[in-house]
Order: sequence, then structure tokens, then C-alpha cells
Amino acid sequence: MKRLLFSIALLIAATPVYAGAYRAVQGDMLTIERELPDGALTLHCFGKMWPAIRTETGVARAWVGVDLKTRPGSHSLKWSVTTPKSGTAQFVDRLSVSKGEFRVSHITVDRKMAVFGKEELKRIRADQQRLKNSYIAKVDAQPDLQISGMPVEGIMSTPFGAQRYVNGEPRSPHSGIDIAAPEGTPVITPLAGRVLVVSEMYLNGNTISIGHGYGVVSVFSHLKTASVKEGDWIEAGSEIGEVGKTGRATGPHLHWGVRFRQARINPESMIVKKQGY
Ligand SMILES: [Zn+2]
Repeated sequence: MKRLLFSIALLIAATPVYAGAYRAVQGDMLTIERELPDGALTLHCFGKMWPAIRTETGVARAWVGVDLKTRPGSHSLKWSVTTPKSGTAQFVDRLSVSKGEFRVSHITVDRKMAVFGKEELKRIRADQQRLKNSYIAKVDAQPDLQISGMPVEGIMSTPFGAQRYVNGEPRSPHSGIDIAAPEGTPVITPLAGRVLVVSEMYLNGNTISIGHGYGVVSVFSHLKTASVKEGDWIEAGSEIGEVGKTGRATGPHLHWGVRFRQARINPESMIVKKQGY
């Protein structure tokens, strides 16, 4: 009998149940909810594991980061539910990703901010490495990944995903949003988190990286000043610095980028829009 039960469990595990369909645009932070049997949850998509929890009502909720360069088309959301009694059952949903409508952005800067010597390149790479390390730093928190407002009041000067040209040369797409505001305007963190990096960077200027938990990390750049230090825990809505134009900036603005398990996310998509059934 035991063997028969074990075989049934294996059969369940090997037969995914196709159920739901979800939609996202490149750069979305996707919140999904669905009914699933009781048990421990995992969710895999794009070859990565994503945070999955149970809500108070027992519904499964997960968040998925759809990187800016995700291939448009159909992808699988693979849930698994494990119980000691019946083993692991799999449930597969479809996620349809469509292309983001990203604009083209041209900026003109001083030659020294576009063509780099050996020393500058070394510094730029070291800055990038510090930020990359912060994207994978462990922060022990279980955030509710919703925001009700922006870190600064201002005008969106460069939207997420814009294909950038610096002095006519194509560069990597814009992995955050730029909000133009007067120098000295307070910058607040829309989500609580641990300060991972406070640094004066060559291109990004004064920069703060904050880990919110679940592998979600915010980067705030071009600040005039930073009023937090590495290791601080900052509550949502707290001031972390002031808008500036440090680093490669044509005017005072805040650059806000969000990484989710390294995926480049449009911060605006964190103003939550749930899909579920
Ligand atoms: Zn920017």
C-alpha cells in the first residue's frame, strides 16, 4: 500500500496541471495570486525561484520580476506544493510577456563623462561591482512589495527602458526612472529596507543602495547628499538624502532603479496591480 501511495505521489509530481494565464510587459514587477492546495510553496520562472507566500486567507501569492530584456512571448510559471503526506504536486501557469514601449533618449555630456581613460574605467567597474554585490546581498525581511508613491516629487525626465545615446553613441537601456526635481528636494524610500551601499560613484554620483528583502534592491543615484549610512534599517517614507546632479547628470534629478533577483524592474510597476483568479 505504501508503495502504491508513493507511486501516485510520483505520478502527481510528474504531471503538471495547466491552469492559469497571466500577462506582463518587459520590466514589470508582477504580483500573482491563485488557489493552490495546502503545503509548502515554490515558484520558478525564467530559470529562477521567486518569493511565494500564503495570504491570511490561504491563497498563494508570489512576485515575479520580468527583466527589461525578457523574450516576448509565452513563459511557464511552475508552482510546486509539497506536503509530507502526499509529496510534491506541480501546477503550471502561462505568462505572456509583451514588448515594452520604450522610447529613445539622447543626452550630450562632457567628453570626460563619455570617453573614459584607464583610471576612470577602473573606478566605473569597481562602482558597478559594488552595486552588483548589493543586488545579491541577503536582507532578512518579508516586504509587501507595494508602493503608494514615488521617492521624490518631480517630473519624469527619462522613463524606464529608454534606449540611450550618449553623445550619439548607443548605450545600455535605462534600467530605472529619472525624476527631475530642484536640487535639495528630499528623497524618501518608498519601501523599508537595509542600507547596503552609500558611495560616491563616478557615473552615478552619490548613490545609495537599499535591500528591501525577497531580493528586491533599490538604487538611488545623483544625490546631492546622503543622510543614511551602510547597515542602517530605514522605514518606508523616511528621508535618505537630497536630489542633486552628482556624477553624469545634465541637471538635478533622481535616478531610481530597482532590481528584483537581478531582473531590471520598472519601479512604477510596484504600484501594485494584482492578477489572479
Ligand atoms: Zn537614470
